[in-house]
Amino acid sequence: EEDQAVLSGVRELDPDEVPDSSLPVLAVVGRPNVGKSTLVNRILGRREAVVQDTPGVTRDRVRYRAEWAGRPFILVDTGGWEHDARGLDGRVAQQAEIAISLADAVMFVVDATVGPTSTDEHVVRVLRRSGKPALLVANKVDSHRDEADAATLWGLGLGQPYPVSALHGRGSGDLLDAAMLLLPDVTAVGGQLPAGGPRRVALVGRPNVGKSSLLNSILGQQRVVVDDVAGTTRDPVDELVDVGGQPWVFVDTAGIRRRVNQTQGADFYASLRTQAAIEKAEVAVVLIDASTPMTEQDIRVVQMAVDAGRALVIAYNKWDLVDEDRRPFLEREIERELVQITWAPRVNISARTRWHVDRLAKHLDAALEGWETRIPTGRLNSFLGELAAAHPHPVRGGKQPRILFGTQADTRPPRFVLFATGFLEHGYRRFIERRLREEFGFVGTPIEISMRVRE
Ligand code: GDP
Ligand code: GDP
Repeated sequence: EEDQAVLSGVRELDPDEVPDSSLPVLAVVGRPNVGKSTLVNRILGRREAVVQDTPGVTRDRVRYRAEWAGRPFILVDTGGWEHDARGLDGRVAQQAEIAISLADAVMFVVDATVGPTSTDEHVVRVLRRSGKPALLVANKVDSHRDEADAATLWGLGLGQPYPVSALHGRGSGDLLDAAMLLLPDVTAVGGQLPAGGPRRVALVGRPNVGKSSLLNSILGQQRVVVDDVAGTTRDPVDELVDVGGQPWVFVDTAGIRRRVNQTQGADFYASLRTQAAIEKAEVAVVLIDASTPMTEQDIRVVQMAVDAGRALVIAYNKWDLVDEDRRPFLEREIERELVQITWAPRVNISARTRWHVDRLAKHLDAALEGWETRIPTGRLNSFLGELAAAHPHPVRGGKQPRILFGTQADTRPPRFVLFATGFLEHGYRRFIERRLREEFGFVGTPIEISMRVRE
């Protein structure tokens, strides 16, 4: 079950697999019922009808790995969540805006049988402002006869509409060919963060954990007035703040401040917002409410940061609400819950009383240091040699895979490529990860390990 919320600190990649965080992102946006989910299923090649006709169904799984003509990319699905009927224009546009900000290119889906609506025009304005390359998809063109319908969509001013039947597949190949021309080879959104300048931090966590309180508590103390610090490229929604004597960019602070209506679809909205913030940041602070039991949603947010390949600090907030005598017990419970990511620095804070908020900066520094650590190849290989001599891979079917050579292919996060004579099994790779951490630190960062088999 791919949706399972299981924490893992290492991303295991297939041989030659490009990590998700550096793949280009294609978002599918549009009004409800135009056929976005149907199109996503079509692109993913899913046979079964995953499309939900039940209103109010919310999902927080929105990103899928897809492939066309041998090119992998990430598909962001914004279909399948329910809006309230009032203020539909605004809601759709808001949702589209987030999805667009996450994407390298956009498929804007319109129902050709309905023609352009005012909501569609709203989305067009958002698209224009974003400057992102977009394709206009005229959906529900089920037959040649219906193609005249698509022509009415020229009026939206987005150029040629692509007539498609997501339901039957008609025209979807041409559409994907066109989309591939718009996608860069690697993502411009998440994969290539600007280096240099102040560090970029995202405060994330499920609703009500105290993100906005923490931001206020940090802002209340200090605030960098000078905006044009060298090397700063930031959106107006980001905030430049002095923490521990050093400037930091807190990304997407507008998203933290803007209270999400607790209506249907809010989870989905929050999840997209979280994803966007994490991808804009170098390090994520995941807030967890210490006064209530940890939830599946908390784990998902942590996993999002790990999957995005970002540095990670975990902040247990509302510590002021935890009774003195319960604290040791809670500490043990937390250690159990986070057993898979003991590498992430953890800090207990109270955003309300500002207790220990000043400790955040040193943990952010430590996590970023781990994230950028590079192990020289010679040192890595002497480490791997000693490890394999002391703990050889178990013999399987009369064969024993041997590691020939390893190299650290990348940092931010650290990515290792191991060349071996056979497949290194899961448990052994986890073991290598643990030993790598023991030997080299890698505090606060996920590690990626991929493998190449040489006969
Ligand atoms: P979403 O809300 O934009 O994700 O829309 P859905 O994918 O859930 O589709 C809404 C409805 O339109 C469903 O009943 C689909 O079966 C239908 N639909 C989607 N694509 C097509 C199409 O190409 N042709 C026709 N005739 N119906 C479609
Ligand atoms: P957000 O939705 O994550 O931005 O959470 P908020 O910052 O709006 O906080 C949600 C609620 O928790 C508010 O009522 C806050 O006053 C409260 N809260 C936030 N941080 C703390 C804290 O450290 N201690 C206590 N006791 N309450 C807090």
